[in-house]
Amino acid sequence: MEKSDNNSVTENTDFTMKPRDTIILTVVLVIIAVVVLVFYMIKQNGSYAEITVDGELFGTYSLNEDQEIPITDSDGNVTNTAEIKDGKIFMLEATCPDKLCIKQGKKNDANSEIVCLPNRVVISVKSGDKKADYDTVAQ
Ligand SMILES: [Zn+2]
Repeated sequence: MEKSDNNSVTENTDFTMKPRDTIILTVVLVIIAVVVLVFYMIKQNGSYAEITVDGELFGTYSLNEDQEIPITDSDGNVTNTAEIKDGKIFMLEATCPDKLCIKQGKKNDANSEIVCLPNRVVISVKSGDKKADYDTVAQ
């Protein structure tokens, strides 16, 4: 057995915590906690999803209602099927060859998107109040 001891010996480094180090560490942890908290407050969950096909608004759907959304192209063929479940939207089925939109997984963060480039379908998660006009989307 070969022993390759190429550890650089750093014995003159003092690893014991001094009280001052503990204070610095605590301050750093508090700062991280505050940053994470602020980040979470800014990063709100989306409340509805806006679907566009080829740049045209296809429909707006509340994330609070579990539903399946067949997305059709201009010829009326279903190209993608989105599903809303447990407040999250994801691409359930797609005719695109790469299936990247399905791989993008479940989304519920405001301003997150699921994009299907081949079918030119974009699902954007939006926060805030869904416009009352969109509440009843024609089935
Ligand atoms: Zn796709």
